[in-house]
Amino acid sequence: QRPGPGGAPKPAGVPGVKQIIAVASGKGGVGKSTTAANLAVALSTLGLKVGVLDSDIYGPSMPKIFGIKGKPQIVSGRTLAPMEAYGLKVMSIGFLVDEETPMIWRGPMVISAITQMLREVAWGDLDVLVVDMPPGTGDAQLTMAQQVPLAGAVIVSTPQDLALLDARRGVAMFRKVAVPILGLVENMSYFTCPACGHRSDIFAHGGARHEAERLSIPFLGEIPLAMPIRETSDGGRPIVASDPSSAHAKAYVALARQV
Ligand code: ADP
Repeated sequence: QRPGPGGAPKPAGVPGVKQIIAVASGKGGVGKSTTAANLAVALSTLGLKVGVLDSDIYGPSMPKIFGIKGKPQIVSGRTLAPMEAYGLKVMSIGFLVDEETPMIWRGPMVISAITQMLREVAWGDLDVLVVDMPPGTGDAQLTMAQQVPLAGAVIVSTPQDLALLDARRGVAMFRKVAVPILGLVENMSYFTCPACGHRSDIFAHGGARHEAERLSIPFLGEIPLAMPIRETSDGGRPIVASDPSSAHAKAYVALARQV
């Protein structure tokens, strides 16, 4: 266990859970949830027992990405059983509220919901719990980083300057609370036309690798902008689960090996 920053008390671990890894981004829409879901499936293909905690209270994505319907059962008292998909255990606020209902909650409510999903869920024995963090570096994110005993954080960014600027802020936030940065992933790194093979760097290219060097953090790899990644995510079957032999799935497995 790392010491708490500035003498703050160390957050308690989750019984049975060996490691908790956060997947974060400075900005929304860069593919954080897609990366978190595929990374989780990739980790499980490497033989690990994996859980996914969707801590994005205002925009939960995991029910849709994993195609999970239904509500978690109560196992005892307030403790809920996680939902399951593709061999993973999954918990999200999206299982507990109607899809169309907006979460109009202030920070303390959000933090208490995340804490409950972490500590009042029968996760069982897990090698890794992947936490899909909310985007940004606000109060909720900071508290999360302090309340959850994180082994490290993976930061997702597109190659665009604007996304990288926000990613840099994310790195600074985790550094402030002494959470190790496992590295930076460049998502939507390039696009190869499936018809003619021409490559276009739609959001530019290589910015995340350069930024990782600048920040002295590992660069974990490039994930292209590709229709099958979007289609499988929207269809509730992440590409690592639905097409494990594809080049895209292999890119996520390569990412998982470095985490
Ligand atoms: P975030 O969690 O950062 O808000 P999402 O993971 O929800 O982002 O991704 C936003 C949209 O982009 C989704 O429709 C998702 O399917 C799509 N997407 C994410 N990564 C890729 C990719 N590498 N190729 C194609 N589409 C992607």
